[in-house]
Amino acid sequence: MKAIPLILACLFCAAALDAASPPPKPNIIVILADDLGYGDLGCYGHPTIRTPHLDRMAAEGMRFTDFYSAAEVCTPSRAALLTGRYPIRSGMAHNQFRVLRTRSTGHLPAEEITLPELLRPAGYTTGMVGKWHLGVWYFNPDGHPRRHGFDMFLGVPHSNDMDPTAGAPKGASGRPDPNPAWWSVPLYRNEELAARPADQTQLTRLYTEEALKFIRDHKRQPFFLYFAHTFPHVPLFASAQFRGSSRRGLYGDVVEEIDSSVGQILETLRREGLAGNTLVFFTSDNGPWLIMNQQGGSAGLLREGKGSTWEGGLRVPAIAWWPGRIKAGVVNTNLMSMLDLFPTAVKLAGAELPRGRIIDGCDQSAALLDSARSPRRSMFYYRGTRLYAVRKDQWKLHLLTQKGYGQSQPDAHEPPLLFDLNADPGEHFNLSTNHPAVVASLLEEIEAHRATIVPVPSQLESLRQDNGVASK
Ligand code: MG
Repeated sequence: MKAIPLILACLFCAAALDAASPPPKPNIIVILADDLGYGDLGCYGHPTIRTPHLDRMAAEGMRFTDFYSAAEVCTPSRAALLTGRYPIRSGMAHNQFRVLRTRSTGHLPAEEITLPELLRPAGYTTGMVGKWHLGVWYFNPDGHPRRHGFDMFLGVPHSNDMDPTAGAPKGASGRPDPNPAWWSVPLYRNEELAARPADQTQLTRLYTEEALKFIRDHKRQPFFLYFAHTFPHVPLFASAQFRGSSRRGLYGDVVEEIDSSVGQILETLRREGLAGNTLVFFTSDNGPWLIMNQQGGSAGLLREGKGSTWEGGLRVPAIAWWPGRIKAGVVNTNLMSMLDLFPTAVKLAGAELPRGRIIDGCDQSAALLDSARSPRRSMFYYRGTRLYAVRKDQWKLHLLTQKGYGQSQPDAHEPPLLFDLNADPGEHFNLSTNHPAVVASLLEEIEAHRATIVPVPSQLESLRQDNGVASK
């Protein structure tokens, strides 16, 4: 007779505990392609590259039309993604080459607080596979991803066109031939050298297998996975399964292999019962490397590509996926940036933003989970050490324009150029004389932004051998 009250009491306690326990922290996966252009995916209009898995990801989630990487080249873009700050604040826009090279002594400064460093104390296991490009660790171990918050790392320190083996035969362009034997990009597992040269035809497959293992190994605890693909950065390599598969040639083969990799990640999340509690965000570090001709991608209707401050250099594909939380099939036209991933992930994880420093990202969690919510970001600055342009609403004002990859000095504009990106996404028609009030208002915003730029000397000191001259 005493059993019934006891059972009722237990049920009551269990219900009370359930109501009191916080919701589970979501897993967070960021997948970053390298040099993938705005026009390179099926769901962004490419006619011959087949990307069924990314197209399905967009159909089940949210696709962004006005999403910006934080820089027009690799290193500063990645620094911004992991810190939520314009790279001038961390010193990672100051390299004379704009990207770190194999002999660069600089690296992401220890003073910077990265996303995995914030998520770890919130209970997250953190892992990275792929291309780091925020410092090499041959000269200083502080350049390694494991010194910046990652529990696990499998990948390469820099771009796959760096460090070609001495004596490799030169092709017609003067660059070493695109043959795996002639590239000595090293593959590391944590701090240990796993292969040199890495067999680049196998990199996408290796990264994917490691990512799937990481997901399965940590499925019972919250995890953060940063999956930074080596491709479609040149030189291009695809595995035998994908080589020759695309009507777009080798570039298409490479993108289709990345698409397959994304499909395997999402399918594993579904199969492991993690889809309803995992945010996956796919994007690219900068626009397509157009000077590589057929080896480079497409910015679609946008002007120019990688290395340029025209739209094609920074506006990139972006897709968010979280079944049951992000509404399916939404096309989001709000202004957003890679900078925003940092505070958004921090909010979703229930972690705290660092104090005492400027975070340039905006928390977009409300916009992800409720597409009717108003946009959080009103301004975006196109900048390295110098400020090139600014966007507010549909208006983009160019003070300087880096016209293309490798231009030594940007073109200066006086008066500045003004484009209406809603009516003219290809930036063909300068409207500055038609809208002087818009120009004046944007110049005021720029002055307010410039007042916030104070490079920290100790951070820049670690980059002294690579520094150019800082300029607001
Ligand atoms: Mg890149």
